[in-house]
Amino acid sequence: MANKKTEHCSFCGRPASETLMLLQGMEAHICERCAEQAYQIIREELGTADHPKKKNDAVPSTFELRKPKEIKDFLDQYVIGQEEAKRTLAVAVYNHYKRISQKVESDEVEIEKSNMILVGETGTGKTLMARTIAKMLNVPFAIADATVLTEAGYVGEDVENILVKLLQAADYDVAAAEHGIVFIDEIDKIARKSDNPSITRDVSGEGVQQALLKLLEGSVCNVPPQGGRKHPEQKMIPINTKDILFIAGGAFDGIERIIAARKSTNVIGYSTNADQVLDKSNMLQYLAPADLKKFGLIPEIVGRMPIITHLNPLDATALRRILTEPKNALVKQFTKLFAMDGIELVIEDEALDFVVKKAIEFKLGARGLRSIMETILNDAMFEMPSSEQKGKLIVTKAFAEEKISKDSKLAQ
Ligand code: ADP
Repeated sequence: MANKKTEHCSFCGRPASETLMLLQGMEAHICERCAEQAYQIIREELGTADHPKKKNDAVPSTFELRKPKEIKDFLDQYVIGQEEAKRTLAVAVYNHYKRISQKVESDEVEIEKSNMILVGETGTGKTLMARTIAKMLNVPFAIADATVLTEAGYVGEDVENILVKLLQAADYDVAAAEHGIVFIDEIDKIARKSDNPSITRDVSGEGVQQALLKLLEGSVCNVPPQGGRKHPEQKMIPINTKDILFIAGGAFDGIERIIAARKSTNVIGYSTNADQVLDKSNMLQYLAPADLKKFGLIPEIVGRMPIITHLNPLDATALRRILTEPKNALVKQFTKLFAMDGIELVIEDEALDFVVKKAIEFKLGARGLRSIMETILNDAMFEMPSSEQKGKLIVTKAFAEEKISKDSKLAQ
């Protein structure tokens, strides 16, 4: 370290006395800020240059691979119900990261990627599952909305923007981004309108699907590092998508009819009574790739997302559990918020049942729970922190009903 009295940083000129640290070279010095900046530039540069050091195919050191059962246990802490989807996701994620850590010898069997599609109504936990997996694995996570891709005519560029988000989530660490997870929401909205391309060609949907395919297949995409910080020349950063896990979600409204039609055609000519074996109340359990194609996903996309699973609609029991059981359950969150102001929040069981009843009426799955809770507690959250008497807030069913009836958006 340099003599603090006389030296200065050879890059920014700051005197030693103003630096936290001044490192001494042969004939120059560098301060902690410039060293940090230089490091950023090096990282960004190596992201663009074909430099041997950039080739970091290894799984990041922060990464922790768990067995499917452990993955499922972790999901259980956050996601209520959806047993089948959790098991399928646990196995897919395990295989995906096992595949990445595999040292590929030329004659060895190469394990293919396990991108997946989650089918289920809005607010049933699709995004939550993907996000929770990323949290468990400690890998970068980005959510992309497929509907935006349709609207913005300029397809190629937009699809690559998905990777920009991932790169940002990885704090511009290319190697980390290349092992991340992308959740593509509302994939059903880019379905083409007819599953017969020769009759009605729905170019927008199909065009976006084709562009997406490039990412899913595993290719090197050049990404503009938006806000490519501290570096004046905005160069493109190549990102290899071969080890990125893509999880797509969608409600696929009406797919039950497609499944039912397929199932009933299949059994024509057989003497068994199809109605007896088919559980008509939950047709999604019979979901097959053919149904997604019929819905309007191009065969190549379905082929590149070979793992499909479904999420069940949430019934009153599940919604009730979601309010209190998950690790970051809404009731726990509000209790903590109030406690931070020295207020004890008590929500009576009947009030919680009322919240569930309202959520079912609004048909927003678990998504509705938060806005209902906010509405009920908003006045208290506004007034109580500055009130003299803090103490305790007891939310009864009558209290909840009154707050909801006063809210123009929620009252019916
Ligand atoms: P979507 O299926 O539309 O992607 P989300 O995963 O975004 O739904 O769910 C919205 C919110 O509802 C989540 O943030 C979460 O709090 C809650 N939620 C939905 N499903 C579940 C579930 N199965 N278990 C626990 N919470 C859930």
